Amino acid sequence: MQAVLSFSPSNLKQVEAAYANHSVTAPNGAIFRAKVHGTTITGYRSGKVMFQGANIDHEVSRWQQQSDKSSTTNATRTGNHHHQTSSPLPTGFASWSVLGSDEVGTGSYFGPLTVAAVYVAQENLDAVKQLGIMDSKQLTDPEIIKMAKQLLTFLPYHVVNLMPAKYNQLMEHYHNQGQLKALCHNLALQKVLQKIQPAVPKAILIDQFVAPATYFRYLKGQPTIVRQTVHFQIKGEQAHLCVAAASVLARYVSLQTMDQLTEEAGITLPIGAGNAVDQIAAKLIHRGISLDRFAKLHFANTQKAETIAKQFN
Ligand code: MN
Repeated sequence: MQAVLSFSPSNLKQVEAAYANHSVTAPNGAIFRAKVHGTTITGYRSGKVMFQGANIDHEVSRWQQQSDKSSTTNATRTGNHHHQTSSPLPTGFASWSVLGSDEVGTGSYFGPLTVAAVYVAQENLDAVKQLGIMDSKQLTDPEIIKMAKQLLTFLPYHVVNLMPAKYNQLMEHYHNQGQLKALCHNLALQKVLQKIQPAVPKAILIDQFVAPATYFRYLKGQPTIVRQTVHFQIKGEQAHLCVAAASVLARYVSLQTMDQLTEEAGITLPIGAGNAVDQIAAKLIHRGISLDRFAKLHFANTQKAETIAKQFN
């Protein structure tokens, strides 16, 4: 079998880099050649990459989305539709081996921003399904904890748990929570891709929190940007179990962290950003405890709590 995909110069460099660990001597006229899982991949200066072997589908599908874009972007830039919403996922996506990511804590004043990435290979789909993970949004805290502990035993994952102090420090620099989220997703995905090597997911699914073009703009300048086969989907947990698993894991770590911070603060830290939160934050200020270790300071709750705290005296 043989297939040829076309890439822009920068995407071609990414293809080459992705196979750097598997490179073999390139034939005359080619700029690189690699052999991986029985597939020979040869790249040419023209931007064409040839895939040859008995079972090339896996490697070809890994690049298809990106190559389509690179070869058609200039010709089809008539509307901005592919900057807006997520494009429909390929048929059969739910049964693919997919790496997914999701986050929790972005709307909560107290506690961390937690992003989890989880890889669910095809052979693990049934086991994940049997845990009853489908409606992860409706699970109670004890159910989340029980389920997460089970998931952790057999799924490759990585969690980026951005504690408030670090979060506040980064927000001083970026002034943009969306960008912080993007950086955390990108990092979590990278870590899992490293862990599962030489396996490669057929696709990556990010629970969409911003338009895809914006997401990648946020990542500009990062040394590594996970981009190949990345899809975005609102309510991603319904599109593939890996996002449901990531959601459960992120919630689990967030819950644990909230318990830990509650213990440190000596007072129960509520989730969310409502009045109860202002009251507790005011108590902490009154006790002379710095909110930086416990809360996301750029929220309006900080000002409100300071006003309330003044009235305590
Ligand atoms: Mn989400």
